[in-house]
Amino acid sequence: MRIIVAAFEETLELGLQKPGQVVPMIPTFVFGWPTGQESGDYLALDLGGTNLRVCLVTLSGEGKFELTQTKYRLTEEQKQEDGSKLFDFCADCVAGFIRAHIGDKDGSIKEGQELALGFTFSYPCTQDRIDQGTLIRWTKGFGAPNVEGRDVAELFRNAMAKHHLPVTLTAIINDTTGALIASHYVNPRTKIGVIFGTGCNAAYMEKVEKIEKINHLNLLDEDPEAEIAINCEWGAFDSFVHQHLPRTKYDQIVDESSNKPGEQAFEKLIAGRYLGEIMRLVICDLIDEGVLFLGQNTYKIEIPYSFDTAFLSLMESDPTDELLTIIGLFTFFFGLETTLAERQFFRALSRLIGRRAARLSACGIAAIVSKKGYLDEGCAVAADGSLYSKYPGFADRVHEGLVDIFGVKGKNIVTHHAEDGSGVGSAIIAAMTKKRRDEQKF
Ligand code: BGC
Ligand code: MG
Repeated sequence: MRIIVAAFEETLELGLQKPGQVVPMIPTFVFGWPTGQESGDYLALDLGGTNLRVCLVTLSGEGKFELTQTKYRLTEEQKQEDGSKLFDFCADCVAGFIRAHIGDKDGSIKEGQELALGFTFSYPCTQDRIDQGTLIRWTKGFGAPNVEGRDVAELFRNAMAKHHLPVTLTAIINDTTGALIASHYVNPRTKIGVIFGTGCNAAYMEKVEKIEKINHLNLLDEDPEAEIAINCEWGAFDSFVHQHLPRTKYDQIVDESSNKPGEQAFEKLIAGRYLGEIMRLVICDLIDEGVLFLGQNTYKIEIPYSFDTAFLSLMESDPTDELLTIIGLFTFFFGLETTLAERQFFRALSRLIGRRAARLSACGIAAIVSKKGYLDEGCAVAADGSLYSKYPGFADRVHEGLVDIFGVKGKNIVTHHAEDGSGVGSAIIAAMTKKRRDEQKF
């Protein structure tokens, strides 16, 4: 683990120095921490790996807020069909939400009201400004054509224009940056934001003077102490070269059969999108060897991605000696009968997969901690995502990992559940941006 951390730290450093690195270390144009006094009504649009969400956030200052939201499930088709359709869908959802929650009954917004919208677009985008973002590449299984290489802010604005609503896209935000800022708004000890969900990534605050690749922007003229949030996009660590992370043959199959072979090497060992698939591939291998499910019809479990990562959580938390949850899971979803020994084996396997994911996650956190020198004073890490919040023992295993890497001092690094970064964080960032704009800052 320490060897991985050292390589990770070097990679982060390189991303700050040179543009176009595999781990791109993206300056987000979120300058410094919120004051906690940000206030007002904001819209947040959250395009994640699984859902689309529209939120109305009311910030009342003093770290307090209220939120109203509507969630829509994204279909596999929507992730693959032309980008213009995806952005039309986003705009339609925003318009529908406004009609239902904000406007008068006829759908119009109260006169003079102009709503700032933060767009949480959780894919790697390079930014020249906060209200612009060029998609480097899709991740998390998305493949919608005609979006990579383009400005997603512009695509969204074009789709929104059809609705003639007084909504201004103020900021493009990554979910990790949102988690970092929203959590700092309520707990100023927070120094790092991480997402362990369908995908995996982290953000933290960096001194502008340490980011060689943006020297030419002369941001220090405005403020020599300036800091900027960095969206690391660490899921890409070890992509293509595969030099640093130990991979099994199952990891290689997950990678090669994905829509983006070679990419997101770190994420593919950790994130919720892949853990169930890793488990399924091990099971299928044992079926092929004639070790499991002899004489039973196994076609259902042979369907790629049919084994949800949530099943691993369920198996790990089965409280019964007979492992009744696991019986139910295999019969209900796959029509398969299991013996007790098999069920014990499945549970042990999910522990291995889950534990590895958590320990690798600890390596990523440790790399940032060590780079920033947070170990002695300690810091809080705001974490979000289904894996972090729903997988039993995930957080404990991350903490164990940190202690294995750093010794007892690892205990100074504590993760906690993040505030809703993609909703509230997005709103706070929209508020911070509006204020900077009024002060005519970059
Ligand atoms: C994306 C990141 C995102 C992470 C968590 C990754 O696949 O590239 O931008 O922060 O998933 O949602
Ligand atoms: Mg999300």
